[in-house]
Amino acid sequence: MRRLLIAGNWKMNLDRGRSLSLVQGLVESLRNTSNVDVAVCPPSVYLGELGKALHGSNIGLGAQNAYNQPEGAYTGEVSCGMLKDVGCQYVILGHSERRAIFGETDLMVNEKLHAVLAAGLTPIVCVGETLQEREAGKTQQVVESQCKGSLAGLSHEQMLKTVVAYEPVWAIGTGKTATPAQAEEVHKDIRELLGSLFSSETSQKVIILYGGSVKADNALELLSEPNIDGALVGGASLKQDSFLGIVQAASSVKK
Ligand code: PEP
Repeated sequence: MRRLLIAGNWKMNLDRGRSLSLVQGLVESLRNTSNVDVAVCPPSVYLGELGKALHGSNIGLGAQNAYNQPEGAYTGEVSCGMLKDVGCQYVILGHSERRAIFGETDLMVNEKLHAVLAAGLTPIVCVGETLQEREAGKTQQVVESQCKGSLAGLSHEQMLKTVVAYEPVWAIGTGKTATPAQAEEVHKDIRELLGSLFSSETSQKVIILYGGSVKADNALELLSEPNIDGALVGGASLKQDSFLGIVQAASSVKK
């Protein structure tokens, strides 16, 4: 049985005061939620302070990116050891915005993935097709190629510690959500691919999140699909009520 994970990707949003009050509100409201894993991924400058605010709570802290080297002359970058130092447990890697705006390739994502795992952090590796690719009937091909490239060289044990997030680019921040059937089809393909790359036993244990305009009112039907093990949430993670609504939906899912 896979535990559902709901992770909020705040992107480059919220200031210090609003970050802190959102985290404090979530800590208070989720005090008794134990059947779902929850994490927030704020901008890196706030990680240290929010890590302290989350200490002892049942909400994990995640970063939105990390560099693949432990230290050195890499101006502007943050290492996995530094993220761990301030209380991070998760790191989002290869988000479509990083791929499209900052030119991240599967190889770069893969190098970061190995560094994140070596530091004992949980990576959330994002894959997903553009609208053009979907309309050209290339969804499966694109997602499989991103998975193979991004997850290259992992041992079975490392794969079990890695979370995959399927995020169709056309559904991110657009209000257009994949239908539960569209999302499930790709999640099932990813799990089958992991089965062929690793083993069926390993693939059955990997957490595969869906991301793309998940809201409190569409979360339940998406999360009820057999291969959807949680959500990576952008816009709806910036407000307490909408994020809590998604966590509550996850909490009520029976599979
Ligand atoms: C995301 O950025 O990972 C995301 C899924 O965003 P949104 O929920 O706003 O579509």
